[in-house]
Amino acid sequence: MELLFNNFEAWKKYCQQEQKALYVPVLDYEMNLRGRSEAEIWAHLRKAYRVMSEAVETGLQEDMTSRSGMINNGAKRVYQYPTPVLSLEFQQLIARALAAKEVNSCMGRIVAAPTAGASGILPGTLYTLQKIHDIEEERILEGLLVSAGIALIIEQQASLAGAVGGCQAETGSAAAMASGAMVFILGGDIDAVFNAVAITIQCMLGLVCDPVAGLVEVPCVVRNASAAAIAFSSAQIALAGVGAVIPVDECVAAMGEIGQSMEVRYKETALGGLAATPTGQRIAKSVLISDIEMMEDEQESEK
Ligand code: SF4
Repeated sequence: MELLFNNFEAWKKYCQQEQKALYVPVLDYEMNLRGRSEAEIWAHLRKAYRVMSEAVETGLQEDMTSRSGMINNGAKRVYQYPTPVLSLEFQQLIARALAAKEVNSCMGRIVAAPTAGASGILPGTLYTLQKIHDIEEERILEGLLVSAGIALIIEQQASLAGAVGGCQAETGSAAAMASGAMVFILGGDIDAVFNAVAITIQCMLGLVCDPVAGLVEVPCVVRNASAAAIAFSSAQIALAGVGAVIPVDECVAAMGEIGQSMEVRYKETALGGLAATPTGQRIAKSVLISDIEMMEDEQESEK
């Protein structure tokens, strides 16, 4: 079963030969891997999607101010702003992706799918898709399984971690997972699903990981919103039957190659990019000072 998720070609071949929907072998894989029944896997998925939806709602309703102050209720402001730049749906998509990620930056409950840094993308996209098309939860859960299959392959052939492959590996992979899942949910065939993944990766390649002060806040939160937008644009393109030209497995290999050649300062070390700007450095220093002051206060109160 592991071999099936070595590459997209094998996954496609298996589903075509066995005449199975894309999510079915992922379901089998999960059952084998975890030694759980099918009912238990569905229950687990239902719970995960509930937590994702709650993160969206929490981020839009509760105070979302991070300890560093860099995150300060941005999602709510976007959601409530009177002028949609494109459409109300797009405005809500952006706000929801921001909201779920803000919950993570404020230490709230999220699903790290595939990582905490990219935890706003699947909730923002799937929640929005469900609202727009009035989709039954079962279909969303099947889409989540498809997204898990996509992540399994990317994890093996490239990486899902910013510390290994840069932000392309985190927000890029999450966007690819979301895009493929959305095309599947809307009834796209296997080629359309995999083209959505390929197109998304093509749009996210090369993105570095450069979190200011080493905190998963800036630019992470806004990248969740832009990745959600790219997931939607790629899904729209692929659903129409427009091909990716470069096959999905080759796109994943390119992501892996770029990740390997990326300098260490762009891999979550907070030594390059936005983290190394004068403002980024100033914020890092003030976060460090406030951490030291907090530690001193705690030691004082323990005496
Ligand atoms: S910048 Fe780094 S820490 Fe932030 S979301 Fe991207 S990969 Fe994760």
